Amino acid sequence: MTLQIDRWLHPTPSGLYCAPGQFYIDPPRPVDRAVITHGHSDHARSGHGAVLATADTIAIMKVRYGESCAGTFEATAYGNETSINGVKVRLVPAGHILGSAQVVIEWQGSRAVVSGDYKRAADPTCAPFELVPCDVFVTEATFALPVFRHEKAEHEVQKLFASMAAENQRTHLIGAYGLGKCQRVIKLIRNAGYDQPIYLHGAHVALTELYQSLGIDLGDVRPATSAEVSDTSGAIVLCPPSALNDRWTRRFNDPVAAFASGWMRVRGRARQYGVELPLVISDHADWPELIDTIAETEAEEVWVTHGRDDALVHHLSTLGRKARALALVGREDEAD
Ligand SMILES: [Zn+2]
Ligand SMILES: [Zn+2]
Repeated sequence: MTLQIDRWLHPTPSGLYCAPGQFYIDPPRPVDRAVITHGHSDHARSGHGAVLATADTIAIMKVRYGESCAGTFEATAYGNETSINGVKVRLVPAGHILGSAQVVIEWQGSRAVVSGDYKRAADPTCAPFELVPCDVFVTEATFALPVFRHEKAEHEVQKLFASMAAENQRTHLIGAYGLGKCQRVIKLIRNAGYDQPIYLHGAHVALTELYQSLGIDLGDVRPATSAEVSDTSGAIVLCPPSALNDRWTRRFNDPVAAFASGWMRVRGRARQYGVELPLVISDHADWPELIDTIAETEAEEVWVTHGRDDALVHHLSTLGRKARALALVGREDEAD
């Protein structure tokens, strides 16, 4: 029997669309009704009529795009079932960043799970991924090549501490994306016992303050702009990856350029950013996590979004699983 879920859930130029529910999931352009998985810019855009998301995702959208970035907002808690035009919808944790959710959609006895972005590794800044068995699983494929096997993030933090001990006068400048990664890196550093002030590039201040206001304790975090050079020598400063090669770095004492990203698994990427200390810390599932998660959902069909979709589709078809690339507009090699 074929499921024919694509009769009621399918990709359109405006994004993945649930026809009976008349809503889109993470649409790249303004629509009347959107369900948003999380606050990253390739998923959450401004200008929708109505937005359904977790309260944390809505708070993130408002900080990034302004209070009135959608006509109306409906916050829903994880696990809480709602109905949109008769279609059952609930959000469950995706383990990706604060507020991130998978969208569980049920219609006429079939269930689709749209995972958004996700990871299985523990993250002290968000709720852990929850597995939901389903008929169709829509998965990301950011790191869907066998070469991507992420280290434990705690191990990478120990690499940072070893470098700080060896180079104790130099500023450790860590490039990290501003939403999710920056705050997770700070929290990992705190959980490993570091209690000195941590400094932030101006671009990271608003979202980090938001995380703290939403209950993620990140300790003593200060804007780097207000710091003296003497304060930051031997200290940790977080900045956007693009700032690592910026004249902004000249204010620091012979900085060690680090970069926290799943892409640091690729040497060429580290070289491209002039990174001395690559830290493989990813907010996306690596290859084994993708393969295991897909198997655990027991989905009859797997639909793939983001980046390495052909490699994953090919691998799944060799396992005899029905898989296809969705080729959604606007999903890039994004914020990791
Ligand atoms: Zn994301
Ligand atoms: Zn994404």
